[in-house]
Amino acid sequence: MEQQIRTFGDPVLKSKASAVTDVDGKIARLVDDMFDSLYTTDTGCALAAPQIGVQKQVIVWDIDDEPMALVNPVVVESAGEFVYTEGCLSIPELFVDILRPNQVLIRGITLDGEEVEIEADDFLGRVFQHEIDHLNGVLMFDRMTPEQRKEAMAEYRRIQEAPQAPQRRRLKLR
Ligand code: ZN
Repeated sequence: MEQQIRTFGDPVLKSKASAVTDVDGKIARLVDDMFDSLYTTDTGCALAAPQIGVQKQVIVWDIDDEPMALVNPVVVESAGEFVYTEGCLSIPELFVDILRPNQVLIRGITLDGEEVEIEADDFLGRVFQHEIDHLNGVLMFDRMTPEQRKEAMAEYRRIQEAPQAPQRRRLKLR
């Protein structure tokens, strides 16, 4: 069932999610809810459980019509550097160039209870890093330079105060 996507300012986004101990039917239902919620957005391709108010370590993503979920995901290794213009369903309409590692090795558990490792880079690598951050209460703002954060916060306030804003803005920051 579709849930409301929590937005910046909601304390659930700043708290750490708990590890899942049993990958059971409850988790399968959570994953269904996460996809239902994700698919109500026109731009989202991934979601972390805290974004629908559930403090559990679960992420889902759907890139190229392949819905996937991972439980207790962690970044095991990372390398390289890569600037990508990130957006977040919990910080609507704000897009900021953020520098992060390019390649990552992720470890987690599938819905079948199997431990897997996934290597990813570029866009998918970025999606994993962004969603796993959500499980640790870390938001895009926390990955910006102090200068970027100041500008991005001001821009986000402007966006919030202009609910009729007709088009998406793209904020380019160094
Ligand atoms: Zn996000």
